[in-house]
Amino acid sequence: MTERLYYHDCYLREFKAKVVDSSDGGRRVYLDRTAFYPTSGGQPFDLGTLAGVAVREVIDEDDRIGHLLEAPLGAATETEGVIDWSRRYDHMQQHTGQHLLSAVLEELFQIRTVSFHLGSEVSTIDVEAPALTAGQLERVEDRCAQIIAEARPVQITFEDAASDLELRKASTRTGTLRIVSIDNLDRSACGGTHVRTAAEIGSILTGKLEKIRGITRVEFVCGKRALRRAQADNRLVASIGRALSVPPEQTPQLLAALIEKNKSLEKTGQRLATELARREGQDLYAATAPGADGVRITTQRGLIDDAMRARAQAFVAGQKSVFLAVCDQPPSLLLAASADSGIHAGDRIKAAVTVSGGRGGGNQQLAQGSVPDAAALAQAEALLR
Ligand SMILES: [Zn+2]
Repeated sequence: MTERLYYHDCYLREFKAKVVDSSDGGRRVYLDRTAFYPTSGGQPFDLGTLAGVAVREVIDEDDRIGHLLEAPLGAATETEGVIDWSRRYDHMQQHTGQHLLSAVLEELFQIRTVSFHLGSEVSTIDVEAPALTAGQLERVEDRCAQIIAEARPVQITFEDAASDLELRKASTRTGTLRIVSIDNLDRSACGGTHVRTAAEIGSILTGKLEKIRGITRVEFVCGKRALRRAQADNRLVASIGRALSVPPEQTPQLLAALIEKNKSLEKTGQRLATELARREGQDLYAATAPGADGVRITTQRGLIDDAMRARAQAFVAGQKSVFLAVCDQPPSLLLAASADSGIHAGDRIKAAVTVSGGRGGGNQQLAQGSVPDAAALAQAEALLR
């Protein structure tokens, strides 16, 4: 059974221990005691070194704690562990911040926390509420800030599960429980590592909310992460303001106005493009000499889009005319025919693309089809010419 040194001293960064067992050729090591925190209760494992060898992962095996090393430890029976303190201290801030956030949500709005995840960028809690308003979150952040400013002591005690512990969330465990308390606010059964006073949390900022089947997932950051988040947000807002040449506080209205303007410009652009294509079709008709049978035929290459359709329709608005458009990518065809051309565009397209393994159709005047590849396109085009 491994003695968990972090249970009693979360600030222990270096320790000596005896190697009691190992496996995987000395890469998985068991000690008589350890300050390394293994992944559990939503908090990730510690990093650091054992006898100078990097610890890659720490695993909770109920009675024992397994240390996964980058290289075998060797034959030594005594070893010295060093915890990666910046990672661990960040975890202590996030985890104690979670206890505070959950306690305040319950204190102000009777909203219970059902789970916690400490992530590498942001942490989350899942709370029993279908939604949370911006006003509620602001009040929660304010109350957290107040308790942080009061530097309320955070204490770790060991108490009997059978006594009336007045925990925020009842524990199903028996025997001795490890209780983490924030003075005059919260008592939770928890095996995690925590800071000594609320002041060390630094600050709590909530972030994105996500609704998941009746519960809400609340993102949050504490300590240096909160500072970095605020700095990044400030830079972002300032850069958006500079790009728009207005003070940051005017960017929301300006963006809304620009989006509206863009929509209307897009509509105008489409209308003008169609009008241009229509005129191109008319010009093309005028410039195309009729054949011996009096029919004007043109073949155009390019994307079959609204503009191509407008060009085709304008072309076949003239008497005795046939318009074929061929597009290489995606392999497709368009055929338009004037009413007096003696050609049924739909029937012709259908026949030509079906032979090549494609599909298509349309009416007498306008039809489109697509084929699987370039060879099929060449075949269909040859049939239509
Ligand atoms: Zn906890």
